[in-house]
Amino acid sequence: MRQTLAGAIDWAAPQLVDVSDTPKLDAEVMLLHIIHKQRGYLYTWPDERLASEQVVDYTKMVHRRVLGTPIAHIVGEREFWSLPFMVNPTTLIPRPDTEILVETALNLPLAENAKVLDLGTGTGAIALSLAYEKSQWQITAVDKIIEAVALAKANRAHLKLQQVEIIKSDWFDSVTCYDFNLIVSNPPYIDETDAHLDQGDVRFEPQSALTAGEAGFADLYHIASSARDYLAPGGYLLLEHGYEQAIQLRKKMIELGYENVATVRDFGSNDRCTLGRFPR
Ligand code: GLN
Repeated sequence: MRQTLAGAIDWAAPQLVDVSDTPKLDAEVMLLHIIHKQRGYLYTWPDERLASEQVVDYTKMVHRRVLGTPIAHIVGEREFWSLPFMVNPTTLIPRPDTEILVETALNLPLAENAKVLDLGTGTGAIALSLAYEKSQWQITAVDKIIEAVALAKANRAHLKLQQVEIIKSDWFDSVTCYDFNLIVSNPPYIDETDAHLDQGDVRFEPQSALTAGEAGFADLYHIASSARDYLAPGGYLLLEHGYEQAIQLRKKMIELGYENVATVRDFGSNDRCTLGRFPR
């Protein structure tokens, strides 16, 4: 490997073609993490030389990536809603698809000081992005995995969004407020037998954040049913789900008594979130 920035990328990218759709970008992201610079730096100073310990660190990172470890785990961070979130293997890596859930929540006609609950918050991506946009919202975020609670709290501190309450709770089990104006969740919704669980980044994410029984519907149904006891009259439930689950979930929500049930597509035009309003 040539010990320049350009040389480091040229060395790594070809090794990553089997594991990544974006081998050059992956190489750049890892290198930028080592040199603590923004992307433009690589193109301005391609001949800058790496120190030998930087070469060692970079080589280790590339090796992990070759073995399939997600970029977000290697650099310990993933951007969501243009905010930096610390990430680790205890929970889901935030997905761009989930930004549509945040956008949909922000567009609801809610009061300035609305009470909002995020179930299965993981990194805290949804709850903290909402708090970043709506500083007056009273947001509670829960997760049943204690390491995820710790991670969400670390992200809360890092993003200076201390107004968000983060607690350990298995869905609603430890929630003691019964008048939320909005309940959101990106629960596990992949069918346990789905072939794509053997491919790519999901292999490194916890099963508990990805899969659910009843063909992926178990947690969606549990949340939709229980949420009725925790919503204020006229409160909204907003759930992320798989791109083929919209029709069945809408049917279930209507059966459960929700009104104005509707599905929203993500930026890739896939059905991604369904919302409904629990009547007065
Ligand atoms: N959308 C994610 C995926 O397909 C899954 C996220 C989830 O289960 N909540 O990888």
